[in-house]
Amino acid sequence: MRFQDIPGLETSKQKLIEAVAANHVAHAQLFAGTEGSANLAMALAFATYLNCLNPLADDACGTCSSCLKNAKFIHPDVNFIFPSSATAKLKREDATSEKFLVEWRTFLLSSIYGNVSDWSSHFGWENKLLMIPRQESRNIVKALSLKAFEGQFKVMIIWLPELMNANAANGILKVLEEPPEKTVFLMVSNDASKLLTTILSRTQQFRIPSFSDVEIKNAITVDGVTAERAAHIAYMAEGSMRTALQMVDGEDNETQDYFKNWFRQCFTYNFSELVKMADEFQKNGKEFQKELLSVGSSLMRESLIYSSAATEICRIPENELDFIQKFGTVFTAEKIMEVSPKLDEAQYHIERNANPKILFLDLSLTIAQIARA
Ligand SMILES: [Zn+2]
Repeated sequence: MRFQDIPGLETSKQKLIEAVAANHVAHAQLFAGTEGSANLAMALAFATYLNCLNPLADDACGTCSSCLKNAKFIHPDVNFIFPSSATAKLKREDATSEKFLVEWRTFLLSSIYGNVSDWSSHFGWENKLLMIPRQESRNIVKALSLKAFEGQFKVMIIWLPELMNANAANGILKVLEEPPEKTVFLMVSNDASKLLTTILSRTQQFRIPSFSDVEIKNAITVDGVTAERAAHIAYMAEGSMRTALQMVDGEDNETQDYFKNWFRQCFTYNFSELVKMADEFQKNGKEFQKELLSVGSSLMRESLIYSSAATEICRIPENELDFIQKFGTVFTAEKIMEVSPKLDEAQYHIERNANPKILFLDLSLTIAQIARA
């Protein structure tokens, strides 16, 4: 991964390159972004740049032996720690990052903007809770105690430190504060607010902004998507390259179908079906639930824009138009404004581990009442 592989974000790239040029590379940095941002891609590009043997003014060379290894994520001085879970063969305490490097590399090659649930499905840990276990802190300390094999810098990339077990986090505080010479920690977080203050205070925060609509549009237009569709996707993706790529692949349609069906059952007061659906949502896991609510929020927004007849900025695809037109006959703008915050509220509670079945049942009833009012 090189800077040029990441669409746009020129200011962020420039700042990283300047830090190297000025010999001011902080030894512990937090690449804070949101899901679908370039925080992981940027950390990888930075690691490549740091160890490039012939760096150019604006990027790594891409052809030296170090760059070639970094392109395949096999550089011996670039270490990865990421969330995992037990497997049929490995108990929780033995399931550490080094055991999953083969799958991790294929994940990076295919889903650099992916989130933890994408990683979980990529590996095949369906519905399991992923975390960075205690044992990883010992692995980190051990890996850093070795001298750099060939690179100038020893880089430790920790993906999603917010999923670190508290003991693991406490176990790295010392090395984070006083790492061996030429060591760089890159913590790649999608939700820095969940990090322990002891970790935050030891890192220099580097905010990776979300992609702009133009950056997303340009990135996906290359993939053979028409300019019109790309503009619509960029608008809907709200800065997330993950969402945009899923929309290009049509993967969002499945969740959309769930949402449409759920709302239909709410309109018709079909309670036995709503109970079944709440069960199903619970079984599909937290990431699905969050996705469902966020897809729903997007559809609501589209519907609102559509109903206000601002059709110029709302280019709705065929498959959504039909739903939105019917939806508009039940849900007036006032009702949408009443339902939308309920969906956001539900997202908030799911993040904080509310019981999904009760939450969705309750939400279904609220929506049904608003629809009928
Ligand atoms: Zn190079």
